[in-house]
Amino acid sequence: MSTDPRRDIPAVDRLLGSAAFAPLLARAPRPLIARLIRDVQQRVRADLASGDVSPEVTTEAWHARQVGEALGGLQRPTLRRVINATGIILHTNLGRAPLAPAARAAVVEAANGYCNLEFDLAAGIRGSRHAHCAELLRQLTGAGAALVVNNNAAALVLALDTLARGRDAIISRGELVEIGDSFRVAEIMARSGARMVEVGASNRTHLSDYRAALSPDTGALLKVHRSNFLITGFTAEVAVAELAHVAGEAAVPLLYDLGSGLLLPAASLGLPPEPTASEALGMGADLITLSGDKLLGGPQAGILLGTPELIDRCRKNPLSRALRVDKLTLAALGATLELYLDPARARAEIPVLRMLLASQAEVATRASRIAAALRRRGVDADVADGESAAGGGASPGHVLASAHVVIRTGGSCRAAEGRLRAGDPAVLVRVQEDRLRIDPRTVDDSEEDALIEALGTAALA
Ligand SMILES: *Cc1c(COP(=O)(O)O)cnc(C)c1O
Repeated sequence: MSTDPRRDIPAVDRLLGSAAFAPLLARAPRPLIARLIRDVQQRVRADLASGDVSPEVTTEAWHARQVGEALGGLQRPTLRRVINATGIILHTNLGRAPLAPAARAAVVEAANGYCNLEFDLAAGIRGSRHAHCAELLRQLTGAGAALVVNNNAAALVLALDTLARGRDAIISRGELVEIGDSFRVAEIMARSGARMVEVGASNRTHLSDYRAALSPDTGALLKVHRSNFLITGFTAEVAVAELAHVAGEAAVPLLYDLGSGLLLPAASLGLPPEPTASEALGMGADLITLSGDKLLGGPQAGILLGTPELIDRCRKNPLSRALRVDKLTLAALGATLELYLDPARARAEIPVLRMLLASQAEVATRASRIAAALRRRGVDADVADGESAAGGGASPGHVLASAHVVIRTGGSCRAAEGRLRAGDPAVLVRVQEDRLRIDPRTVDDSEEDALIEALGTAALA
């Protein structure tokens, strides 16, 4: 062996010609295998430079094993199924709203061959992708017109750019929110080209503050739903209807970023007061923006609703081409919206709504069933009262009374939580006071067997 062990690392060509690599070359093209070898060797050189490494690193067999593992990693999808046992319904890190069966079927149908995304089948001429959900949205919300884009952040950028590019957009200091994932209203405004004019104080903003900021340069008044936090104590906020009045007097549009995408009355879903899309429009907002995958319970999408004139301007803005939505999203959104034509059906079939509406007794029944199945496997499991949350920047501070399965693990609770996370399907749980807590509210019936299996294995290991 030479003094510099880096010299003993086999050359790429030698490895590619070796017997150890023959099975790998049968699984993937040579240039890809060569790239994986170089990645492995780059790591080895760094390791060798920084300290001791197993002498094995100079062998062909070791390299073949490493490259085999890397190749296996590439062949495994990075996007994997997760059972959400946290009780957080709109879990932003877990893809927010799971889709209704009808929405899933519509995605498969749209993906399965060609579709009339931009073709008018009746007239036999080019059509518009914007035609697809627009009529359903109009009928469900009473909006004059509708436009769907990639997500709500995109909808807000498009609305601000259209209404207030190079002009002032007036917003209360109490509404300059950050919604996670680097969505900050102030930064979005800066990107849109609108000049942000902040009025009021963090806790109190009055109608007179907006009035004083109005000028010939005003492009829009902006109201933003606070979504994920509450301001309590000595507070004042201007109602949408009052803002609409001031906007009307000044002949500038009122833009309202609603966020959650509530289509059914909050009370009918057991949620604290919060305007639906049609209520927001009824209060006089000229243009509103909402998410497709929050309380609406559909796919990621941004929905703009408002007067035909404003929606038309947004549609014609060149930015709308960059922010446009794809056919799979339109298929899922259309099928989800269709369920809302019959609100009872929406409540029964849209997973987010069903989870919100499940009573504590219902969740407790499922928790008891899961706990009993676990005890039969020898796991120390009980049922206790607990809480679920709407999550995803919806109904801050609101908790739902729930029931949890509480598990005392054989070994370390943290280690069991890690095993559950690494499993297939992965299972996300809460850990509290050295116990695993499982909230069945966010677990679909069809996932129960897999959940019990995973919990049984992880808790006893
Ligand atoms: C969630 C939210 C957004 C961002 O919506 P995305 O669909 O995630 O882009 C914007 N504004 C408000 C008020 C929100 O609640």
